[in-house]
Amino acid sequence: MKAKIHRPIEGTIKTVTVSMTPSGRYFASVLTEVEGDNPPSNTDGNVIGIDLGLKDFAIVNDGVKTSKFANPKHLAKHERNLKRKQRKLDRKEKGSKSRDNARKLVARVHERVSNVRQDYLHKLSRKLVDENQVIVVESLNTLGMVRNHKLAASISDVGWGMFVNFLSYKLEFEGKVLVEIDRWFPSSKLCSNCHYQVKEMPLEVREWTCPSCGTHHDRDGNASANIRAEGIRILSVSGTGTAADGGEVRPKLGRKSKLRHSPAKSEAHAVLKVSDG
Ligand SMILES: [Zn+2]
Repeated sequence: MKAKIHRPIEGTIKTVTVSMTPSGRYFASVLTEVEGDNPPSNTDGNVIGIDLGLKDFAIVNDGVKTSKFANPKHLAKHERNLKRKQRKLDRKEKGSKSRDNARKLVARVHERVSNVRQDYLHKLSRKLVDENQVIVVESLNTLGMVRNHKLAASISDVGWGMFVNFLSYKLEFEGKVLVEIDRWFPSSKLCSNCHYQVKEMPLEVREWTCPSCGTHHDRDGNASANIRAEGIRILSVSGTGTAADGGEVRPKLGRKSKLRHSPAKSEAHAVLKVSDG
């Protein structure tokens, strides 16, 4: 089978899984085994806390400043194109060849949206992993949220779970550390200055003033600062302190060999693309 290979394959190939997308393109996902140690995990370096939002995709606090990364509204941008192609599809006669072609065009738009989203998540996670040693996020029960929440469509769109997955394996490959804090940690309700906790913090409140110390907070900036502080606290309790709290660093031993599997489809695309048709 002819294939377009975009980058050399490292290690010993264990399995190759070929799949066809709904638009009729073929992809191969390659599982390889790489000999050698993982770099020992080390928490000595920059620590950031990330609050994952809806208005902005990610709000990052590095202990000094807060940076916001806009949420690209992929589906909204491609919606008109999708609607147009969907209408064409609806007009085609059932079981006809032209209906099948129209269906493939609709599937292509869905695939393009998903590729654009993954590309964005790969670039942002790569940047954050390159610049930091420890990344703290709230563990998300994304599936539960998607099922129950009226914001379900935009939650699925922004791809939080995929983002945390990308962060996780990129960090691990470099001996860096992902800290996931309990999702019930009240990151939005705590004052990051004096730790006073307010009872309610409705979603529409974007800024607030702490009734105890008078600090004026940007909602997301405050939450990401709290997430960062909680991550540092967890590391110090578990005996793996960080440079940020002056703690001691105890690197863990790496494994002897490891399996590297493309964690999501786009990775497979990047590695090996089997020619269309
Ligand atoms: Zn306060």
